[in-house]
Amino acid sequence: MTEFTGLTDRFGRHVNYLRISVTDRCDLRCVYCMAEDVQFVPRPQLLTLEEITRIGRAFVNLGVRKIRITGGEPLTRRNILQVFQELGQLESLQDLTITTNGTQLHRYAKDLQKAGVTRVNISIDSLHEDRFRAITRNGELHRTLTGIDSALEAGFKRVKLNAVILKNRNHDEVQSLVAFAVDRGIDISFIEEMPLGIIDEHDRAAVYYSSDQILADLTRHYEMIPTTESTGGPSRYYRIPGMDTRVGFISPHSHNFCDQCNRVRLTAEGRLLLCLGQEHSIDLKRVVRAHPGDESVLQQAIIDSMDLKPKGHDFDLQTQPVIFRHMNTTGG
Ligand code: SAM
Ligand code: SF4
Repeated sequence: MTEFTGLTDRFGRHVNYLRISVTDRCDLRCVYCMAEDVQFVPRPQLLTLEEITRIGRAFVNLGVRKIRITGGEPLTRRNILQVFQELGQLESLQDLTITTNGTQLHRYAKDLQKAGVTRVNISIDSLHEDRFRAITRNGELHRTLTGIDSALEAGFKRVKLNAVILKNRNHDEVQSLVAFAVDRGIDISFIEEMPLGIIDEHDRAAVYYSSDQILADLTRHYEMIPTTESTGGPSRYYRIPGMDTRVGFISPHSHNFCDQCNRVRLTAEGRLLLCLGQEHSIDLKRVVRAHPGDESVLQQAIIDSMDLKPKGHDFDLQTQPVIFRHMNTTGG
């Protein structure tokens, strides 16, 4: 028998990163993420916290070294700390991270750090109260700002901001968002909007603002030095001389990164998605429920799923989305 060497797909890409959406629910309704009248998955259909932990552990036993907990808003799931505490104890897991909108961080930051969370990504698209409320449909900026302060006080290895930039909504804030990050010595990534799910609030093609445009805007104020640094994700990083802050760009449209893809995603319902921009998936909830306590069946299902991982996404802003699931189903 040949020795197991981790999860590898048909294109030779090693999968060492799992993102888990622990809920599709959220206390905000960001206009690019979900429809205003979104229908959430009925709670009984969600994986239990124990099942989430069990699947996470199986991935770590198969060589996954980084897990990001996301959503929806992960910190709105009841008793979610339990998942962080259990995954945080897995010795082989090098990086346990979370993506959050920050609204609950004042309650959770210290306990997350204690549980072993290394890095926190906090989403903030505007520093103006009125715009923040308009983009999130109901959000209060001060809650996310307090969340950022709480994360900084808790002493995580790294805190990063995420901002989705939309033309004529917040594109004129890229410099002030970078200045905000520089003041706090933290990183920031700018994300191009992805056509996931149908939304009617805006035309995604009309508000497209490319990473190259953002970089050009920033270059008028800062010296932006490209780096080859990576945090294991699709961000391309720039540094500003003399500053701790790295400025990242996640550019699914303008700089396709599929050839380096190292990740898979678990939805809150237990579907393992092999690509954010395609529907190839397997039902891990069915596997864990049909074989309670049998780790080998679960591991084999995960190994077999690697053959389904497609070469890349087909995001196209000019056509109707081919992917009908919204971003809150899978997390960013
Ligand atoms: N609720 C948490 C948050 O907002 O950070 C975690 C889940 S959210 C889906 C994860 C990230 O995806 C956020 O940074 C959000 O801005 C981003 N996002 C949501 N919908 C998106 C879309 N259609 N295109 C690009 N990024 C999107
Ligand atoms: Fe909620 Fe995050 Fe989606 Fe905004 S981006 S609606 S905070 S899940």
